[in-house]
Amino acid sequence: MSQAHVVLITGGSRGIGAAIARLAAAAGHAVVVNYARQADAAQRLCADIVATGGQALALQADVAQEAEVVHLFDETVRQLGRLDALVNNAGVVGPAARVDELSAERITRMFATNVLGSFLCAREAVRRMSTRHGGAGGAIVNITSRAADLGSPGEYVDYAASKAALETMTVGLAREVAREGIRVNAVSPGLINTGIHASGGQPDRVQRFADRIPMGRGGEPEEVARAVLWLLSDQASYVTGASLEVSGGR
Ligand code: NAP
Repeated sequence: MSQAHVVLITGGSRGIGAAIARLAAAAGHAVVVNYARQADAAQRLCADIVATGGQALALQADVAQEAEVVHLFDETVRQLGRLDALVNNAGVVGPAARVDELSAERITRMFATNVLGSFLCAREAVRRMSTRHGGAGGAIVNITSRAADLGSPGEYVDYAASKAALETMTVGLAREVAREGIRVNAVSPGLINTGIHASGGQPDRVQRFADRIPMGRGGEPEEVARAVLWLLSDQASYVTGASLEVSGGR
């Protein structure tokens, strides 16, 4: 992706997704800012991008709902003419809990958003970008987590397991479409300063755990976004099936 392209970012309205949208727009790409519920945040971000000369479109869709995902991709192509890249960024955590405390509803919700949602979006992207389907190729980046390796005991093993599933999907899908013009990679963030920790009932989580990070601090969404933009770009033309940690050390 060296020239202007259309980049769809799920959960692009806040946190890491918003940083990716801003950076992609600043690089000259048209961005689709998908969101689930908070239309205000998505509209504000798109207005900011447009005010600085960029192209941005806010589209609502719950990635866990198949019909909404299909509509999201159809609308992207209808309004922007094509699709060149997908960032599977939408993800949720739950309140800290042990496995012996988890409800079936919570586990189902976690996997519906983080795993099913990412699969549905990847499917729709491949259907539009793969040369096998008459597309021009493209790139997919899955936002996973260091939790996939660490397992997140006592906090959210269900979340960690959902991200491990996404790491495996990255490897398998990358191999599946490697000769169809599509590269598929993962970015695995460590502790990043966003609202996700408050949504899981731990607003001070990054500060509390900062000492455990080799670099001694949490990361900023922009630091993750720069890795994503590199993987989407032609600079990473021979990189597929890889997982890039952005975590201040391991
Ligand atoms: P965040 O600040 O909580 O933002 C989440 C975004 O996802 C929002 O735009 C939200 O939209 C959207 N979203 C949530 N559920 C959705 C659904 N069902 N369908 C579509 N969009 C949905 O999260 P973040 O910290 O930026 O995290 C982004 C990704 O990075 C996630 O996959 C997360 O697991 C991963 N990650 C984060 C960290 C970290 O420390 N922050 C570390 C490792 C990995 P609404 O505003 O409409 O709700």
